[in-house]
Amino acid sequence: MSIHHPALPPGVRVFERGWLSANNVLCEGPEGTALVDSGYVSHAAQTLALVEHALGGRPLQRLLNTHLHSDHCGGNAALQARYPGLRTAIPPGQAEAVRAWDEARLSYRATGQDCARFTFDALLTPGATVTLAGRGWQIHAAPGHDPDAVMLFEPASRTLISGDALWQHGFGVVFPELEGEPGFDAVAATLDLIERLAPRVVIPGHGSPFGDAAHGGAGPAAPVAAALALARQRLQALAADPARHRRHALKVLLKFKLLQWQRQPLAAVHAWARQVPLLVRLHAHHGGGAPFDAWLQALVDDLCASGAARRDGDVLVDGG
Ligand SMILES: [Zn+2]
Repeated sequence: MSIHHPALPPGVRVFERGWLSANNVLCEGPEGTALVDSGYVSHAAQTLALVEHALGGRPLQRLLNTHLHSDHCGGNAALQARYPGLRTAIPPGQAEAVRAWDEARLSYRATGQDCARFTFDALLTPGATVTLAGRGWQIHAAPGHDPDAVMLFEPASRTLISGDALWQHGFGVVFPELEGEPGFDAVAATLDLIERLAPRVVIPGHGSPFGDAAHGGAGPAAPVAAALALARQRLQALAADPARHRRHALKVLLKFKLLQWQRQPLAAVHAWARQVPLLVRLHAHHGGGAPFDAWLQALVDDLCASGAARRDGDVLVDGG
């Protein structure tokens, strides 16, 4: 699970997780030990085991989050309990909401996801620099997928920790658009920013690191340029057809929950969905007048048709 990617700067290790838990980036240098992102809450024991094993008895000293979605900070509470001296740094946008654990402003209740309450000690303010693995990493605002997200960029090795702003094959759901707020232009601006930073290597929030550490040219390495081109193509298609983006987002939300459940009786899937504010709102605004259960069942059927889920009698099962 730990990947010693040859293209990564010394002292940087990636635990490639999956879709329920985002990747974790473990950084070790003269300044100490740090982890970027902590996975989903139901995988917290696995996150702890990965970190403990990699550190061999040394404590984790700092924890940073690219953004506060449940799959990136769900292990924060467990890490804070395990390492009492841990200092946690989060992007500033939701600092007050985290301090008060204001569930109306944090995304967990709205999406029907879970996250254990955590605290923070410092902010990752765009424009500032943090030291990880003996190098200075620039903090950049990366709105689009999440208005408050940040990315970390190390200019000497040109390594980018992109969170969900850029994956090798796309980017995260544009959540503001689901709430009726603009988001597509911010995604485009963040992709432009990544192009200007010209990374040789990208460590995404999901999937393997990609790039070419030996790339000496001025622009991004070829795999990064290819990822940017694909992301822009996808963005253009989604922005031209917001209904398609909503359908995609609904499937992502349902699939994410199914990854957590693995199996769930359909009746319980419906009962869960009826109390998820984002689903209720999307149905009310875009459900075309269909009853909620029929609307949701069409979504479930879509998920099964795509192979992301399957029916086992009255039980919905993750399709892997
Ligand atoms: Zn995210």
